[in-house]
Amino acid sequence: MSASQFPPLQSKVSTKHCTNCSAKMALYSLPGHYGASVDIDVCMDCNAIWFDQYESTLLSPDGTVALFSLLTNAAALPPAPPRSSAKGCAA
Ligand SMILES: [Zn+2]
Repeated sequence: MSASQFPPLQSKVSTKHCTNCSAKMALYSLPGHYGASVDIDVCMDCNAIWFDQYESTLLSPDGTVALFSLLTNAAALPPAPPRSSAKGCAA
């Protein structure tokens, strides 16, 4: 099964606020290893991802693709303003 075959991801309301822009985050259940699902907090306003401890290692490859597909689709929206304290890359 490829990530493109997943049904549209449904979000739940997260209890977390984005550490970047303070918006309320959305909770997505993504495919994990061995058929488990992993709940990942995502900020749809600025595309931030919050992993609780070890959550990033619990995602299956399909779950990782689904997560980035989600953010790619969200990227079609106007970008959020950059954070004022961002330490930019010099490159
Ligand atoms: Zn945010």
